[in-house]
Amino acid sequence: MMRYIFVTGGVISSLGKGITAAALGTLLERRGLKISLQKLDPYLNVDPGTMNPYQHGEVYVLEDGAETDLDLGHYERFTRVKLSKINNTTTGQIYEAVIQQERQGKYLGKTVQVIPHVTNEIKSRIMRVAQSSGCDVLITEIGGTTGDIEGLPFLEAIRQMALEVGPERALFVHVTYVPFIKSAGELKTKPTQQSVAKLREIGIQPHVLVCRSDHPLTNEVRAKLSLYCNVPIEGVIEELDVQHTIYEVPLMLQKEKLDELVCRHLKLELPEADLSDWKSFVEKIIHPSHRLSIAVVGKYIGHQDAYKSIYEALTHAGAFLSCGVEVKKVDAEEIEAKGAESLLQGVDGILVPGGFGSRGIEGKIETAKYARVNKIPYLGLCLGMQTAIIEFSRNVVGLSDAHSTEFDPKTVHPVICLLEEQKNLSQLGGSMRLGSLLCKLIPNTKAYEAYGRESSKERHRHRYEVNNSYKPILEKFGMKVSGTTEQGELVELVELENHPWFLGCQFHPEFQSRPNSPHPLFVAFLKASLEHRYQKH
Ligand code: GLN
Repeated sequence: MMRYIFVTGGVISSLGKGITAAALGTLLERRGLKISLQKLDPYLNVDPGTMNPYQHGEVYVLEDGAETDLDLGHYERFTRVKLSKINNTTTGQIYEAVIQQERQGKYLGKTVQVIPHVTNEIKSRIMRVAQSSGCDVLITEIGGTTGDIEGLPFLEAIRQMALEVGPERALFVHVTYVPFIKSAGELKTKPTQQSVAKLREIGIQPHVLVCRSDHPLTNEVRAKLSLYCNVPIEGVIEELDVQHTIYEVPLMLQKEKLDELVCRHLKLELPEADLSDWKSFVEKIIHPSHRLSIAVVGKYIGHQDAYKSIYEALTHAGAFLSCGVEVKKVDAEEIEAKGAESLLQGVDGILVPGGFGSRGIEGKIETAKYARVNKIPYLGLCLGMQTAIIEFSRNVVGLSDAHSTEFDPKTVHPVICLLEEQKNLSQLGGSMRLGSLLCKLIPNTKAYEAYGRESSKERHRHRYEVNNSYKPILEKFGMKVSGTTEQGELVELVELENHPWFLGCQFHPEFQSRPNSPHPLFVAFLKASLEHRYQKH
C-alpha cells in the first residue's frame, strides 16, 4: 500500500519547497517509513546539465551520473535515500518520450494530446519511482509556482493520480507565502487564498498549507487561512525563516506536528520521529567552539545557490569539528582586478570550486598561487584542481604558457587536455565524464591520511583531464599525484609536498557530504585551516 505526497508551491518561487519536502522526508523516515523523493521540473530542458548556474543554481550530480536539480541534493542530505536519474523528471524528458512513442506508432493512430498522453507519461514516471524504490511513501515535488502555464500538465497528472489511488493514499501539501506588510503591520493571507483558488480550479484541494513567513502566524491568521482555503486548522503549518541553519526545518515542522498530521491522513500508525542526533548536529552548528574564515573563490559567487553543496559540505565538516565556518565569497574576476592579497588576506583556508569557461580563470590561477606561496590550506575541486596544476606548471616547473586546452586550445604545454573520446563530441548534454567512479588512494599522502582507507567512490562531472605526459615533471618539482583511477590511467588527486595542506581533486566530494557524515577531504581541509589559524594567532 504505497502512499503519495505531492508538494506544490504557491505565490512566489524560492520558498524552499525542496527543503520542506526533504524535511518532511526526514520526519517520515525517522518514524520508520521507507521513503523516496522525486522532483518534477516543468522546464523544457532535458536536464539542468546544460543550464547556466546563474539561471538555475548548482547542477547536483547523482551516483549514476544524472545531472539533476539542486533539490535532489537536499533530498540526499536530509534523508538516507539514494537517488537515481528517474528521481528527476523534466517536461523535456516527458515530451522526448511521448514524441519517440508517437514516431514508433505506439499511439495506434490516435491524436497525441496533453491529456491523456502527456499526463499518462507523467504518471508513469511517478509510478516508476514508487515501484523501483519499493517505498512506503513517495514525496513528489512539483517545481515552479501554481499558475505557471508549464506546470499545468503536472498538476493535472497528480490530480488524476490522487483520484486513482484513493483519498487515504494521497496527500497534497501546498507550500505558500504569507507576507508581513509593514505599513499595515499585519500578515496577509490573500496571496495564499488566490494560490489555493488556482489549485482548486484544476481540482486539487490541498490538505496541508505550509506557510513560509518571517513573522509567526497568529491564531487569527491561522483561522482565516483555514476558512478561506478550506483546510482544517491543524493543516495550517507555520514554517518561519530559520535563524541559523536550514537543518532546523525538520525540528520546526515536527513542533508544528506536520508529520503527525500526515500520518493520520495516510492512516499510518507509527511511533514519533527520533531526532536526537539531528538536534545535536544543529546544536553544534549554532554553538561552535571555534571559528574559521574560508574563502570560496569562484565565478558564480553572486548566485547563492550556485555552490550549494560546497557550502553545505563546509557546514557538515565544521559541525563535526565544532567549528563555525564563515564563508568569504570572492569573485575570481575581482582577484584579477585587485590582486589576491587584498581579497584573501587573513583567511584561514581557500577553496576553489568547479566551473566551465574562461571567465575568471586567471583569477583562480592567482588564487592557487597565493595559497601555495603563503602556505594557506587549499582545496581545489575539479576546475579548482586544474587551475592549481596550471599555476604550478607555470610558476614552479617553469612552463610559462602552461594551460588547459579548454581555455587555450593551442597552448604549447597542455597540462590539462581532452581525452580522445571527448574530442569529437557534437552533443554537449550528458556527455561528460559523469557519476560515481573509484579513486585509488596512494599511501603516505595527505589524501590517504584524510580518508584513512585505500580507495573511495566519488562523483564526477568534467570533460578535461590531467595530461599524463606531465606527471613526471610535476612530481619531480613537488606536486604529487595522490589518487588515480582504479588502474592508474587518470589522475584523480594531487597535492603539494612542501606545503601544510594543498590538495586538488578531479571529482566533487561535496556531493557526498552528509550532516552527520562529513566528507573526509572537507574535514581534513578544515582541520588544516584550524591549525593555520592558531599558528597565526
Ligand atoms: N571545465 C572543467 C572540465 O570540464 C572542469 C569541470 C568542473 O569543474 N566541474 O574538465
